[in-house]
Amino acid sequence: MRDIILLKQGEIVLKGLNKKYFEQKLLQNVKRRLAPLGEFRVYCTQSTVYVEPMDDASDMDAAAEAMTRVFGVAAVVRAAGCEKTKEAMAAKAIEYMADAMRAAASFKVETKRADKSFPMSSIQISQYVGGELAEAFPDTKVDVHDPELTVHVEVRETQAYIHGAPLPGAGGLPVGSAGAAVTLLSGGIDSPVSTWMIAKRGVHMIPVHFFSFPYTSELAKQKVLDLAKVLTAYCGRMTVEVVPFTHIQTEIRDKCPEEYFTLIMRRFMMRISQIIADRNGAKALVTGENLGQVASQTMEALECTEAVCRSPVLRPLIGFDKEDIVRLSRRIGTFELSTLPYEDCCTVFTPRHPRTKPRVEAVEEAESVLDVDALVREALEGIERVRLDPES
Ligand code: ATP
Ligand code: MG
Repeated sequence: MRDIILLKQGEIVLKGLNKKYFEQKLLQNVKRRLAPLGEFRVYCTQSTVYVEPMDDASDMDAAAEAMTRVFGVAAVVRAAGCEKTKEAMAAKAIEYMADAMRAAASFKVETKRADKSFPMSSIQISQYVGGELAEAFPDTKVDVHDPELTVHVEVRETQAYIHGAPLPGAGGLPVGSAGAAVTLLSGGIDSPVSTWMIAKRGVHMIPVHFFSFPYTSELAKQKVLDLAKVLTAYCGRMTVEVVPFTHIQTEIRDKCPEEYFTLIMRRFMMRISQIIADRNGAKALVTGENLGQVASQTMEALECTEAVCRSPVLRPLIGFDKEDIVRLSRRIGTFELSTLPYEDCCTVFTPRHPRTKPRVEAVEEAESVLDVDALVREALEGIERVRLDPES
């Protein structure tokens, strides 16, 4: 008898008429993530996705782990299969739940019967299995109202399944169900988190990184690719667009007033990102900006950078405290990489006294000495695309 994995859907359940569409996306994403881990049968009934291994070669530990990172899944349950007799169910519960039973002060059994022809009612099964468990683990009390541990029994068509508490899933909606967005990905703490947050709402992400070789090193670029790779566990397959940014930066440094360096540079980033979005049918730009964190993130500065793009700019971290961003970044698994000490292009030509309350007209005036179109075109022509798979 093989174990299976049950995926409980979160918000999709609320989707009414569109539910099928979201479920299809979820099934597609789940299958894609499981493909390198073995042969699985994946299907959906009653708002639960079933992942059944087809043979013993399938890596169930890796599969359960991978499923906790699929958006659209609220909880992941690893369940043990057994024959559909009351004796087999009790024996399997005693064996499979042994550690959890010993650790808990109290427990109860909850039974679900998908197979309505099974000769015992749910309550009868719970009572029987509960009685056997109580006998096997006399130190663990039965408490049907507020148990520390709930042992679940599910009687399905061909087998019965035993499981304990679910693992928390990643939540959100299946990636791809809400279209695509371009995300500006630096090597810092914030932008991997903002990327994750928008992907969580079902958006396929197209990361864009601005790279200023040799002012920033190959290692700094690799760090960004490594971050993007970590994110693929949640976001699925992504193609990172690495944009050469050195010429734009040296032009700004040589020709523009120092106090506007950062703002002008960020306007170039937004312009180029907008074009990449248009080319890919992406409907929004995403940044890790946060109100008041640095001089380029005052409301006036945001107005200046936003003035050059047409699509909505999503800034999911705008009202977060740094502490909250760090906590999320640790949870996602990007914090360690983000804090590696490689330089970012933003830090290369940082003005000593940046404008904190710039006016759009003044920035336009300051950048008017540059051939903006030619610089943008040149950067676009030099793009390097790096495709990343969660599997590879
Ligand atoms: P982060 O931690 O994401 O680097 P930050 O607090 O350091 O953010 P800035 O450096 O001002 O803030 O950058 C603001 C946002 O601009 C970043 O969150 C990111 O979305 C984008 N950005 C900055 N540098 C780059 C880059 N080299 N390539 C792509 N996007 C960038
Ligand atoms: Mg940064």
